[in-house]
Amino acid sequence: MEDCIFCKILDGSIPSDKVYEDDEVYAFRDIHPKAPTHVLVIPRQHVPTLSDARDEKLLGMLMNRVRMIADDVLKLEAGWRVVINVRAGGGQEVYHLHVHILGGKKLPF
Ligand code: AMP
Repeated sequence: MEDCIFCKILDGSIPSDKVYEDDEVYAFRDIHPKAPTHVLVIPRQHVPTLSDARDEKLLGMLMNRVRMIADDVLKLEAGWRVVINVRAGGGQEVYHLHVHILGGKKLPF
C-alpha cells in the first residue's frame, strides 16, 4: 500500500529500529514510546485494522509471534501488556494492523 507508513517500514523506505523479523511479521521500537519497552509487531500482509482481519491463521500467527517476541526476544520477565487500537474511536493512527507490546515498568490499568 503506497500511502501506508508501516508498509514503507517493511520495504525499507522509512527507517526503523528493528527488534525481530521473519517471513510473516516485523517488529520495531515505537518512535514515541509509552513505556520503557514499547515495540510494535506488524504482519507483512497489509490489513488496515483488526476489524478487517478475518483470517484465523493470520491472527493466530500474529499473537503467537507477539508472545514469542515479548518473552524470548525482549525478555520482559516481569510481564507485559498487549494493546490493539481499532479505528479512530480506539485511538488508531496508522491503518496497518499492529500490536503494541508494552513493558519494563509496572503499568497502571
Ligand atoms: P496506533 O495509535 O495504535 O495506530 O499506533 C501507531 C503507533 O505508531 C504510535 O504509537 C506511533 O508512535 C507509532 N509510529 C508512527 N510512526 C512511526 C515510525 N516511523 N516508527 C516507529 N513508530 C511509529
